[in-house]
Amino acid sequence: MRVGVPREVLPGERRVALVPATVGLLLKAGVEVVVEKDAGASAFISDDAYREAGASVVDDAAGLWGEADVVLKVQKPGDASGAQDETALLRAGTTVIGLLQPLTSPDLVKTLAERGVTSFSMDAIPRIARAQKMDALTSMATIAGYKAVLIASGSLGKLFPMMMTAAQTIPPARGLILGAGVAGLQAIATARRLGATMQAFDVRPAVKEQVESLGAAFVGAEAQDEAAEDARGYAKELSQQARERGQAVVHDLVRDVDFVITTALVPGRPAPLLIPEEMVRDMRPGSVIVDIAAETGGNCALTVPGETVERHGVTIHGPLNLPSSMPIHASQMYARNISGLLLHLLQDGQLHLDFEDVITRDCCITHEGEIVHGPTKALVAGD
Ligand code: NAD
Repeated sequence: MRVGVPREVLPGERRVALVPATVGLLLKAGVEVVVEKDAGASAFISDDAYREAGASVVDDAAGLWGEADVVLKVQKPGDASGAQDETALLRAGTTVIGLLQPLTSPDLVKTLAERGVTSFSMDAIPRIARAQKMDALTSMATIAGYKAVLIASGSLGKLFPMMMTAAQTIPPARGLILGAGVAGLQAIATARRLGATMQAFDVRPAVKEQVESLGAAFVGAEAQDEAAEDARGYAKELSQQARERGQAVVHDLVRDVDFVITTALVPGRPAPLLIPEEMVRDMRPGSVIVDIAAETGGNCALTVPGETVERHGVTIHGPLNLPSSMPIHASQMYARNISGLLLHLLQDGQLHLDFEDVITRDCCITHEGEIVHGPTKALVAGD
């Protein structure tokens, strides 16, 4: 069986799905690995490094997709606006694994099913202990949370740490995290290392202890009186009343801080609006918002996805694809995650799909011409 790794075609995507260190793991499991020329170039990995690890290198995408039985991707296969149209290269019987975002890509899912492609989505891996090594959402959110703090510190006209200088004593910067999931917790840890004092707000009371263990103050759960968490541990969409109570709490907090990092997401829904324009108006001049929920619309009403804007004296960043901006570690972590899933699906060097297994069942999107992922199937049926 041949596992293929194409060069990512989405403009700005610098990650690669497999790194040389993980090629060896797959070879040991009895498969061959084929890599497209320059697949790792944006992550500073040469074709020779893949060859030395035991992979072979093919010249172009058509060659790669033509000979691979399983294709490992970062981004979903796409036409990448004028670049390589990967959907044209899909072959029946091939398996594709990547961050497919099936709930927001119904057309792609239909194409995969119609073309007889078996697909697995890395963002649908269940958040259970057994699947931790495959949890790409956690790996990538860790990087995004870290990088968001660097963006905040890079554009705040203040120092983060407290400094006692002959000229004056400088107080530490004050930061606020909205959404203390994986990215938010990493942002707290990073900002604390830089010396800022931190507060965090979340609708899930369960995160209070984690926030406090990182040396930040937790605010928020008191503002919620309804079960804010679903059975999988994700946040649910809130009622109007709970939203208003939460907003009042956040409004008080933002007046007093130097930077806000927003990460709040509700799976399958647009990002919740946490910072309307009137709150931005009440923030200190020179303060900074980094909205890493920008990809799904943003937590701040004034966020422009992919851009940095200044509104009412506040700098608002809406960065997209932060993990790609750290391509070396992001590729290493993602490669571990995706090869973890592939090894889980292999038996004696061949794919062996056991749909009784919760990991296989939850992240398989299409198989044998059908959409088999329950939530995606429901979405497509309601189209
Ligand atoms: P996420 O990216 O879906 O959301 C980020 C945060 O935003 C969450 O903490 C969420 O509660 C918060 N949020 C949503 N709506 C909000 C609102 N209106 N106001 C304020 N905050 C809001 O979350 P995630 O980081 O992917 O984590 C999701 C869950 O998965 C968590 O329970 C986490 O602990 C769990 N998890 C488990 C494992 C594991 O066991 N293997 C690994 C990682 C994460």
